[in-house]
Amino acid sequence: MYPQFITYLLKYIKFQEKIIFMLMSIILGKSVARGLYDEPIDKPYRKLEVDEMPIIETLEKLDYKKLLKDYQDKHDKPLKPVIRRNSVVKIPANLTCPKCSAPSDYLYANNGDKGQYLCKVCDCLFSKKNRFLKEAILRCPHCLKSLERIKERKDFDVFKCKNNNCSYYKQKLNQMTKEEKKRFKQDPQAFKVRYIFREFQLDFDPLVKETPVKPKVDLSRIYASPHTLGLILTYYVNYGLSARKTAALMYDVHEVKITAQTILNYANSVALITKPFVDHYPYELSNSFCGDETYIRVKGKWHYLFFFFDAVKKVILSYHVSPNRDTTSAIKAIGDVLTKFKEIPKDLTFVVDGNPIYILAQHYFAQHDIDFDVHKVIGLTNNDPVSEEHRPLKQIIERLNRTFKGNYRATTGFGSQMGSVSYVKLFAAYFNFLRPHASLENQVPVVIPELKTLPHMPARWTKLIALSQEFLIEQQSA
Ligand SMILES: [Zn+2]
Ligand SMILES: [Zn+2]
Repeated sequence: MYPQFITYLLKYIKFQEKIIFMLMSIILGKSVARGLYDEPIDKPYRKLEVDEMPIIETLEKLDYKKLLKDYQDKHDKPLKPVIRRNSVVKIPANLTCPKCSAPSDYLYANNGDKGQYLCKVCDCLFSKKNRFLKEAILRCPHCLKSLERIKERKDFDVFKCKNNNCSYYKQKLNQMTKEEKKRFKQDPQAFKVRYIFREFQLDFDPLVKETPVKPKVDLSRIYASPHTLGLILTYYVNYGLSARKTAALMYDVHEVKITAQTILNYANSVALITKPFVDHYPYELSNSFCGDETYIRVKGKWHYLFFFFDAVKKVILSYHVSPNRDTTSAIKAIGDVLTKFKEIPKDLTFVVDGNPIYILAQHYFAQHDIDFDVHKVIGLTNNDPVSEEHRPLKQIIERLNRTFKGNYRATTGFGSQMGSVSYVKLFAAYFNFLRPHASLENQVPVVIPELKTLPHMPARWTKLIALSQEFLIEQQSA
């Protein structure tokens, strides 16, 4: 282990930090100093009433093979695939007709590059956006009438049940007080009285893992020995020291002269190399996951960091960073978790806060035939029975957030916001492979035998980098 004086030094640094904060508060005023140190006050998320899923009625599908045969019988010649005159518009090779499943050879790009296609076999006109609706009709679960599309937004369309005899609508009207009814007459938009469904269309395939790309980073250009690099990462990531303090420590204790900027550059490079390894590692997973959002600063602006992790195995599976706390981000974060499975288990549970974005994400995945439960844990004083049962899980993720923030805050304490996303990546690598966990009998969440036998942390970092590089090379040659 490290000599005792380092432990002392770390304690001293923390103490020093407190004093500096006090001084800055006096000089700059508390709010300014706080801005340098603290995360913003937790903003409440937009309250939104999310109705249950609509009834999805799948339309009868045509079979292009049968249609082609019918054509042959009728015209005495086969229907030829579409002839492409060195066209600029590329049709994705895996695109098929939603109605008859004809392969891309039979699809015309109908309107230039606007993404509308026409099937030569069955005349179905479709786009990526309305593809789902060419396969299904959405019906109100209360009255079974088909839903009407009333709004088109960037990522989603809004559907509404406009039936005046719908039980949902009638009940909502009945629940209103006299005063509310009066207000409703003047301003009907202020009330949600009809069944609503939001259909999210994202330009991403929910279950396709990104293929690891070898980053354009050359670690051989790092002018530090592997051991020195391991030491730097240990202080910077494991102990959450800022780049500046890490640089000072490297000089004061190890007599290595290195600038804070160089440390940040090293951290960026290592993050790029270890990320594919962290994301593609064949984790053994349970079936219950917790998710939460926390704040980080990216290029001077507050962003949301979506953490999702295995509640039992304590493995971080998503660390999605987004400027918005929206459904798209929730879908991507849950997608990160789902892609870690070879086969998605039937009884998946996600425990999250009460933010409706997770329910909307659940609907999105249900449309893609991926079902899971979402349990909301609202606050910590909630006595709702579901919350009670899942409160320990919520506490687990809040502990993870605290661990992260404890490390992260110090690294950005002096307003340096460089590489905060890199820091998140390194933290995930550290958390999954290097950090012993009390509830796992002080084992690391994912035990890699090659790391276990090593004498100290810098050596483990070095080995983790080597394994990540090997993984990338394997992927390249595969
Ligand atoms: Zn077709
Ligand atoms: Zn209805």
